[in-house]
Amino acid sequence: MVSRLSAREYTREIEIPEGEPTWELVHAILSQNTSSKNYNFAFKRLTERFPSIEELALAPLEQIEEAIRPGGLSKKKSTVIKGVLEDIRKRTGGYSLDLLADINVDEARKFLTSLPGVGAKTASVVLLFGFGRDVLPVDTHVLRIAKRVGLVDQKTDAVRAESILEEIFEPPQRKSVHLGLVRIGREICYPRKPLHEICPLAEICDFFQSENSIAV
Ligand code: SF4
Repeated sequence: MVSRLSAREYTREIEIPEGEPTWELVHAILSQNTSSKNYNFAFKRLTERFPSIEELALAPLEQIEEAIRPGGLSKKKSTVIKGVLEDIRKRTGGYSLDLLADINVDEARKFLTSLPGVGAKTASVVLLFGFGRDVLPVDTHVLRIAKRVGLVDQKTDAVRAESILEEIFEPPQRKSVHLGLVRIGREICYPRKPLHEICPLAEICDFFQSENSIAV
């Protein structure tokens, strides 16, 4: 499966300021329940308006909300961002997540998911992209494709799916598998009318094979 994904190089569509994984967390919060075009635009506006995490943390809620408005759900997300930054400050004395670099993945995940409004997928995204940890975040695209291909069964939820996929794929493969499945989910494997004919996974996909066998 990895070789099928690696036929094309999948990269991220946005540059996150380096050296401060807290930006990854902010970006992941913005990505919830909206399109990548919208949340990346909102993130760009936010970082232009507030170039440092400290400036963002000290900004009035209304200004954060205004900056991220094009991304949708701006009232809720600005509140979550403010709350998360405040919680990190109370627990660490600053806004950095550097303490996560020195603890194991399970402990780091526990810390992140204990922040208000931060779920398992968001935590894994921060661990993968902010800290280079070998985890495999499962978002809606990854879960849909994993089910269709047959890597997990239909009842599997995202948290369980991450464990299963991390057993299937070796640590060095996980980032490219995540990026590849997200891209295929956005561009090819739509929830309705997936484009099987151009999908690199068609040959190994249970869903496609079963549709084909019915058609024949
Ligand atoms: S073959 Fe079709 S259903 Fe299977 S992963 Fe590709 S687009 Fe999705």
